[in-house]
Amino acid sequence: MTIADLDRTACELRDRNDPLRSYRDEFILPPETIYLDGNSLGARTKGAAERAHEVIADEWGTGLIRSWNAAGWFDLPAKLGDKVSKIVGGGSGSTVVTDSTSINLFKAASAALKMQAADSPDRRVILTQRENFPSDIYMLQGLAEQLGDGYEVRLVDDAEVTAGFPQTMTDEVALVVLTHVNYRTGRLFDMSSTTSAIHAGGAMAIWDLCHSAGALEIDLAGSGADMAIGCTYKFLNGGPGSPAFIWVSEALQNRFTQPLSGWWGHAKPFEMSPDYAPADGIRRYLTGTQGVISMSVAEVGLDVYGRVDMAAVRAKSLQLSDLFISLVENRLAEHPIEIVTPREHAHRGSQVSITHPEGFAIMSALIERGIIGDYREPAVLRFGLTPLYLGFTDVWDTVEALRDILDNRIWDAPAHKVRGAVT
Ligand SMILES: *Cc1c(COP(=O)(O)O)cnc(C)c1O
Repeated sequence: MTIADLDRTACELRDRNDPLRSYRDEFILPPETIYLDGNSLGARTKGAAERAHEVIADEWGTGLIRSWNAAGWFDLPAKLGDKVSKIVGGGSGSTVVTDSTSINLFKAASAALKMQAADSPDRRVILTQRENFPSDIYMLQGLAEQLGDGYEVRLVDDAEVTAGFPQTMTDEVALVVLTHVNYRTGRLFDMSSTTSAIHAGGAMAIWDLCHSAGALEIDLAGSGADMAIGCTYKFLNGGPGSPAFIWVSEALQNRFTQPLSGWWGHAKPFEMSPDYAPADGIRRYLTGTQGVISMSVAEVGLDVYGRVDMAAVRAKSLQLSDLFISLVENRLAEHPIEIVTPREHAHRGSQVSITHPEGFAIMSALIERGIIGDYREPAVLRFGLTPLYLGFTDVWDTVEALRDILDNRIWDAPAHKVRGAVT
């Protein structure tokens, strides 16, 4: 990026020449809004309200219980699973959309530990990132606590993961659970080489794709990963609380079992047998009845991705974050800002995170102007970059608003220091 690229006219030109520009019309955002939080809750898809209405009025209202078959409700977890799988390179028949990410992690980790217990009963340690999204750590701690018997979670630093676990990979380690992109800093981990290091140590690998599915190209099947989980409500624009996904490698199909063995994971759910027998394939990861309305709306977001070239998404994402970083360096240089997102493309997800001691108040002042990012402790301002509905001019306008807020201490008003329940 040369300094000549750093003006608003140059950004407008880049928007006009952007091959993904037309996808902006697939989303509805309020006027005068720059939405930089699509890594936390994706934007509303244009078709979402109409699809929800159709499901409620026609499939539910008219079809009633017949819609489990006639409208394909029963098949939604597997049908949507295949759509997610295409986006993350998982192969067909390997993914279901169901439950939340936290619950899917519980099922996947339980399944992996059970397999390890059969082959290597002395391995009882689970490694995960210290900076992982806390729910992942909590779920693993809860599982270890339930199992008792020496099961334990150990937290590792990001640098230890990047180095291939030189200090922490011992013959006690059964399982490593890693989130592909650090939710706070935006650091991206190399899935393939990291998985190889985990396997070389005799452990299994579960990847959490919450911050990478729909943000970058992923070759899940090619990476050698054992299992994966992730959200559909972030970059995949499935809607608030839309169900998550869970993937298992071909090698583990029909080998794994999981403890939340409800009737939806049964081989013949409508035989109403008193004995559980797991379904063939990925369906055994299902538990109970799914939220059909939520699932149907999530499909609209997945279908937008069905038409997108992920290489183009990744290319634009890096162009947007390069621009953001250059503008912060060039136009906010006199402020105490640190860029915490890695500069190397190979280590960068689809966001830019910066720190400032007054981060919370600054984000509050930005949001008041319709520029919506978010704040994460400690002192981190996060800007999620979603190439399908953000442009280069949006990045320019965001950094200029930041400059005004900082230069004129607009953040230093009592109203910007009040915290709500969700930040
Ligand atoms: C967003 C996110 C979650 C959210 O989990 P839910 O069960 O959907 O609340 C979990 N893990 C990671 C890494 C996330 O980024």
